[in-house]
Amino acid sequence: MRRGLAVTVAALAAVAAAQSTCDIVESQTSIEWYKRFQIEYTSEQSEYWSTSCGDLKPSCILMPKTTQEVAAVVSTLATNNESFAIKSGGHNPNNYFASIDGGPLISTKNLNQVVLDAVAETVRVGPGNRWDDVSAALDGSGYTVIGGRIGNVGVGGYMLGGGMSFMSTEYGWAANSVLEFELVLANASVVSVTESNHPDLFMALKGGGNNFGIVTSYLLQAYPQGDVWGGNLIFDATSEVSTAILAAVRDFTENYDDGKAGIIVTAERTLATLLDIWVIFLYYNGPEPPAGVFDKFLDISDFKINTCKTQSMNSLLSGNNWAVLKGSVYTIGTETIPLPSEANGAEVMGKIFDHWVNVSNTAQLIPGLVASLAFQPLPKKLAQIAKAKGGDMLDINDDIDRIVLELDYSFLSSLSYSQVDKTMRDTYSGFKTIVEDYQDGGLLPKDVYLPLFQNDCFYPQDYFGRLKPEKLALARRVQAEVDPNGFWKTRTGGFKIPSAY
Ligand SMILES: Cc1cc2nc3c(=O)[nH]c(=O)nc-3n(C[C@H](O)[C@H](O)[C@H](O)COP(=O)(O)OP(=O)(O)OC[C@H]3O[C@@H](n4cnc5c(N)ncnc54)[C@H](O)[C@@H]3O)c2cc1C
Repeated sequence: MRRGLAVTVAALAAVAAAQSTCDIVESQTSIEWYKRFQIEYTSEQSEYWSTSCGDLKPSCILMPKTTQEVAAVVSTLATNNESFAIKSGGHNPNNYFASIDGGPLISTKNLNQVVLDAVAETVRVGPGNRWDDVSAALDGSGYTVIGGRIGNVGVGGYMLGGGMSFMSTEYGWAANSVLEFELVLANASVVSVTESNHPDLFMALKGGGNNFGIVTSYLLQAYPQGDVWGGNLIFDATSEVSTAILAAVRDFTENYDDGKAGIIVTAERTLATLLDIWVIFLYYNGPEPPAGVFDKFLDISDFKINTCKTQSMNSLLSGNNWAVLKGSVYTIGTETIPLPSEANGAEVMGKIFDHWVNVSNTAQLIPGLVASLAFQPLPKKLAQIAKAKGGDMLDINDDIDRIVLELDYSFLSSLSYSQVDKTMRDTYSGFKTIVEDYQDGGLLPKDVYLPLFQNDCFYPQDYFGRLKPEKLALARRVQAEVDPNGFWKTRTGGFKIPSAY
């Protein structure tokens, strides 16, 4: 009888303990929260790049305003087993990374401070900002921070994935300019993480994703900033233009003399209309680029559109937002390739490009399919600067130049997801095979480190497995220290640190 009573009490306690996070927050806290059909809920759900993320329905959306409120949410989550998601700009298109069906969504939207300290030359930035919010707040101050190339991208996820910037060849990955992370751990304590007080955790956060906690603010190094020059060149993708652009991006990556220059070279195909174009994003950290820097692109004279001009950083970042087209399902994927020599450039770059054209052709009948392939230079200089600034999880070395390929497939309906999923895998695994074949044939350098860039990874890609073993070991060690029960690993989506291979 006594034992039966004890069991009943335990069962009741378990039921009480299993009360949902949304109910506890509603009944016991003053944290801002919204339920389905409320305007704020619907509006927040529309703030995803991919509609497939917005179609998932969280049980409620929590919008903490302070670090202490984030800590209170984490304490509450510890009382039950619900899956949850953490969202900043919602630009990561992988479902369940910053989106959730049935559990609570923690939106960092209200953690939106941008505070410049011109004396210390730092800026404290909340993860609820987008990069155009940050550049708007700094506009006219004479300072900038290292951030996204398209204004609409969120600060929170971008930074934890390392962050590729137009200024990366001048200042390194965006994460290399973080001075302090304010972090809520799995036990709901708040830590200020700097290189000196928590060196391993500090390193792990520079490319370690959401495996260690919720970042509630980033203290960033500020850099002097005047007007910049940049915009887009758009070409029809004739075979001559494609050959010239592929040669230009290869050449630019190898001869990257001027760290103030940045480019993204993107091929885009709208399969239904067979409209193939190139969109080139050019950036120069100064009012005009010196002669020679972008000549190989500007000399391809038959562009349809040229929007490059002298402008503020804020105007450039907001101007690039035209590239953020909402209303489609998106998938993203990546591969990193060693830069071919000039002699082998046409062969290797052409093969990569043709493979992408051929695979995307197989998806031609998927309604609304748009395929894009971006060539993003990763010159030796970036590796040197990243190391000089204290390093990061990617830890690239300067023995070779590399190009990060970013792949996107967008389409109209989630019903086509499994077909596109296969197309995506076929595309990036084909790139890897092409690289390996050329390595075996001597056309590309062998035994070189080719990590994946997390911010561009498709959900099945093995970001952590492609890091150097010592960085993977560091991630595991830090995880064991700060999250021994695997709270972030088991309860929320994202790229997770594998326990073993
Ligand atoms: C149009 C476009 C342009 C892009 N341009 C660039 C670019 O120039 N450079 C580049 O590096 N990448 C770029 N990306 C990739 C982008 O950085 C990633 O998709 C990134 O994850 C988006 O950041 P977000 O804050 O919007 O992410 P979200 O989708 O909100 O979150 C992504 C991940 O980060 C986690 N997360 C978010 N905030 C926090 C936090 N405060 N604490 C803990 N975890 C958190 C989430 O849980 C989720 O797993 C671009 C993407 C798009 C769609």
